[in-house]
Amino acid sequence: MDKYDKLFKIVIIGEAGVGKTNLLLRYTKGEFNENSRSTIGVGFGYKTLNINNQIIRLQIWDTAGQERFRATPSAYYRGSHAALIVFDVCDKKSFIKLTSENGWFQDLNKYTSLNSTKILIGNKIDNAAAREVTTTEAKAFAETNGMKYYETSAKVDLGITNMFEELANIILNESQKQVETNNDTIIKSSTNKSKDLPPPLNLTYTEPPPTKCCK
Ligand code: GDP
Ligand code: MG
Repeated sequence: MDKYDKLFKIVIIGEAGVGKTNLLLRYTKGEFNENSRSTIGVGFGYKTLNINNQIIRLQIWDTAGQERFRATPSAYYRGSHAALIVFDVCDKKSFIKLTSENGWFQDLNKYTSLNSTKILIGNKIDNAAAREVTTTEAKAFAETNGMKYYETSAKVDLGITNMFEELANIILNESQKQVETNNDTIIKSSTNKSKDLPPPLNLTYTEPPPTKCCK
């Protein structure tokens, strides 16, 4: 089992059919499924990156198609460091469903912390002739809501690696800022009491050995 320094949970959300499962398959396995039915999800996939000599493991969650019923449970979002909100640039409805009242973006704000990173993704840019959402309008929505905007194609593998790598860097920076803030708070609160500082926070995550279960 490979070791890593940090594990980041990333969730993918958006309407059925926008390409969430294929974005995950493309990034983690280099695969694309032309005929995948929108009800099929893969649970989650992993990708391991080396950033500044730190081994970063991305655990990327995919829905199991429950988005068709607007029933993505809060547990799906729990503990996530980042969320990818995906729409199909060739399907205006999938964009409106993100931005509308009770849409994906509102869901996300309900279930995730303010600190969690949110990224907007317009997928299927290979299909330029069928485009219904412009880069300008998507970017405007992203900026208004404090998100970065990326355009991708799972089909021809465009923009995906770059997007995930930038995202991993953002999460890593955020997590380091939080460690510094936490350490700062501990140092400040302990200076009056004792010269002995508490041990530094150890945020290194090592995967536990697999448990052998009973029959
Ligand atoms: P999900 O329901 O959001 O998980 O969407 P899927 O990944 O199952 O994809 C739905 C359909 O869109 C499938 O037929 C895919 O082959 C197709 N699809 C996914 N990504 C792309 C893409 O980047 N370009 C094109 N042209 N089709 C895509
Ligand atoms: Mg899917």
